Amino acid sequence: MGFSWLIRAGPRPNGRLQLTLTLEAVVADRRSYTRREFVERTTSCAAHMGVMAAASPLWVRGLWTRQERFPVVASEPWGRIEEIDDGIWALVSNPLEDRTTLCNGGIVAGRAGVVVIESFASDEGARWMARQAMRLTGRAPTHVIVTHYHGDHTGGLRGAAESADVVMLATGSTRDTILERNGDAPADVLEGVELVSGGGPTEIDLGDRSLLVVPRRGHTGSDVSIEIADPSVVFCGDLVWNGMFPNYVDAVPNQLSQNVRIMRRTEPTTYVPGHGPLADDAAFGAYIELLDDVEAAARRAIERGISAEEAGDEYRLPRGMEDWTLFSPQYFGRAIGAWMEVLSG
Ligand SMILES: [Zn+2]
Repeated sequence: MGFSWLIRAGPRPNGRLQLTLTLEAVVADRRSYTRREFVERTTSCAAHMGVMAAASPLWVRGLWTRQERFPVVASEPWGRIEEIDDGIWALVSNPLEDRTTLCNGGIVAGRAGVVVIESFASDEGARWMARQAMRLTGRAPTHVIVTHYHGDHTGGLRGAAESADVVMLATGSTRDTILERNGDAPADVLEGVELVSGGGPTEIDLGDRSLLVVPRRGHTGSDVSIEIADPSVVFCGDLVWNGMFPNYVDAVPNQLSQNVRIMRRTEPTTYVPGHGPLADDAAFGAYIELLDDVEAAARRAIERGISAEEAGDEYRLPRGMEDWTLFSPQYFGRAIGAWMEVLSG
């Protein structure tokens, strides 16, 4: 049992949305994480994309786009929207085809509001998603939540903030890091961001449905997942990737592995990864095996006294993951190097 901030969204007599913040007790999965100094870097999780896009064989890209799990209600060069359940949609971006949205995200609708997850790579992408929310739910987004600071999730902040009465939500750490590291960040939009706690879950009550915004870490110093209990759906941000090898540029690999395990549910669940097709439990398990395989490769590299770059050049994806792709060939060495830093520290 713990406490979390609860944001209630309800209509006011004048038709505008009323938001009230209250401290509520919730049952939550609580862990305390070791804080770690952030390594100063400016690269986003998709900074090197394009390199592998050119090299990625067509059959791999075809395979990926065929991996639909739910009915597709919108399809564009930059991605498709799948309807997971009544009022719950996921955007699966095609980052190797078109960078308008670039990351995955979602739309969750309830009686009292419509939440859009992520503000995407461009204003144009964020505006498109807001129009999709309007088309699918009959109303403009009331909340936009960004999962972490990387530019492919926050490049469209200004476009996302254009919806009338929308409330932008992020952790304080995410807001500050966007300002510090993302050169063209819209300071005026960030000033208006409402902060969700980095210390415990925040509930967004949409009347007939509620979402939990759960603070986590590992992909960056501050990540959040957005979680629905029934049906069981978790929007994982970049803590989880599927069909694409994850970017460790800001990662603390041991925290990443730990947080991903904590996020996994026992009941059948749809996981919306930060990049790649939607995942079920089997895909989630395969991703955990991949994280463990990278750790094992780092341990072997230390034993053999070879560099992260050398280990990265040698690295091969585990069996069954041969159809995975990656934004950049350097991602293997970077991931192994991040682990080597932790293991030798
Ligand atoms: Zn990222």
